[in-house]
Amino acid sequence: MSEDPVVVLGAGCAGLMAARRLREKGRPVLLVEAEDHVGGLAGGVTLGGDVYEYGPHVFHTTDPDILADIKSLMGKDLLSYERTIQIKFLGNYFKFPLSIPDVLLKLPLATVLRAAGSFAYHFVKGALVVPRQENSETLLQRYYGDVLYRLFFKDYIQRVWGIPPSAFSPSFARERIPRLNILDFLDKAAVAAHGLFSSEDAMKTEGYVEKLEGQLWTTKKGFSMICERLAADALKKGARLRLSTRVLSMRREGGKVAGVELEHGGAREVVACSGIVNTLAVNEAARMFSPSLGDAAQAAADALRFRAIVFVGLKIRRPKVLRASFMYFREHSFNRITDLAHFGFHMDPPGTTLLVAEVACDPKDAVWTDEALAVEAVVSDLVREGILDRAEVAASHVFRARHAHPMYTLGYETALKTLLDAFAGLSNAETAGRQGRFQYVNTHVAMKMGQDAADRLDVKLSRA
Ligand SMILES: Cc1cc2nc3c(=O)[nH]c(=O)nc-3n(C[C@H](O)[C@H](O)[C@H](O)COP(=O)(O)OP(=O)(O)OC[C@H]3O[C@@H](n4cnc5c(N)ncnc54)[C@H](O)[C@@H]3O)c2cc1C
Repeated sequence: MSEDPVVVLGAGCAGLMAARRLREKGRPVLLVEAEDHVGGLAGGVTLGGDVYEYGPHVFHTTDPDILADIKSLMGKDLLSYERTIQIKFLGNYFKFPLSIPDVLLKLPLATVLRAAGSFAYHFVKGALVVPRQENSETLLQRYYGDVLYRLFFKDYIQRVWGIPPSAFSPSFARERIPRLNILDFLDKAAVAAHGLFSSEDAMKTEGYVEKLEGQLWTTKKGFSMICERLAADALKKGARLRLSTRVLSMRREGGKVAGVELEHGGAREVVACSGIVNTLAVNEAARMFSPSLGDAAQAAADALRFRAIVFVGLKIRRPKVLRASFMYFREHSFNRITDLAHFGFHMDPPGTTLLVAEVACDPKDAVWTDEALAVEAVVSDLVREGILDRAEVAASHVFRARHAHPMYTLGYETALKTLLDAFAGLSNAETAGRQGRFQYVNTHVAMKMGQDAADRLDVKLSRA
């Protein structure tokens, strides 16, 4: 076996799991992370005695192996958790996923009747007529009918994502938007009927399709505690971890990665490797190869886009502020806000809470660079909404995630396939995770992806 380590790029959930699995297989491992802490999107930030999460994370999985693994690592520190979600709309708060009684009771009767007619129309049409080009708009119309689609989703998606649902591949709605619960059965029938005629070339994501099922879990320090335990276990198993170390480029020799260029505190070095597991954004990683992976990979890398999020964290002098753990708004600078008091987090000092507001944006938007602007926009919206008084805000912090959400724009499947094929074609490289496979998945799926990539890489290296 080569003495050079497998370099795992990124210490989020996928990288941490990949590192542990590779050690279990006896491979030397170097885990490299740009930030000064592990966990990536699920890692959060500790300031004083408080843990700010990037859009608070709850752990859930129906995978018995992943659940057993996390339970054995966390012991009593894994706490079960009840999530509540509300959407403010037309002056009313709706539960999410939308429920029929809520829609019937809270929308004006005329709107309910129009919504029912429109659902029936789109349901029948969806079963009989194959759209010339399926996109997220046509799919959501079939899920909800045009009236509910326009009321709840059209403008909201445009605001959060910066592009309309019609510019999204159907995979976006399919993977991300839950359906009206009692209409699920009817919709499945419609989809089955539709499938008889459809020749839609959907991305095959079996095995990694996100399902929000099973019990929800958290810890008193949020998801970051799970990530820290995963990292401690990887180290215990013999992995090496380098924090505050950025991957700059990868040296390619034919179909093989020979070395990884790292930067730490301004100093650069090239580390020889026996292989890599990438968990960085697949398009950015593809651009890092020297010599390059070729024009097709370059063009594919340019075709994939991520949506960024600025997280505004507010320390509030009150034990609890929001009426639900997650609240969604359409008309404010932020689309979602969370009150960490609902998660049972330890607060410092007691009697205070943390709110985290998510402002979706592009890195070219002013709100990405201007922290004061982001904080002011969020605080003034919360004051206007009657949620808090300015005087209650004890402190504010701004965190950024450049690769928060992969954007399933129309045709992204082709570009993604090109990049995944390029990685698969390398004899000692694999790619994994939400960024590394450009898939809108939660932590447990990112973990599974990390394990699977480690297994595939182990087979590749054994063959070499
Ligand atoms: C707002 C929001 C809320 C979410 N809520 C939940 C939830 O409640 N429950 C849930 O299960 N999932 C949730 N998710 C999804 C979850 O965050 C991800 O599925 C998971 O964290 C992805 O892990 P990963 O390792 O694939 O990627 P990441 O966490 O993005 O890890 C990639 C790592 O690579 C590092 N990196 C990047 N570039 C470099 C470089 N050049 N050199 C070195 N290191 C680099 C990054 O710093 C990062 O640590 C949420 C996601 C978002 C955006």
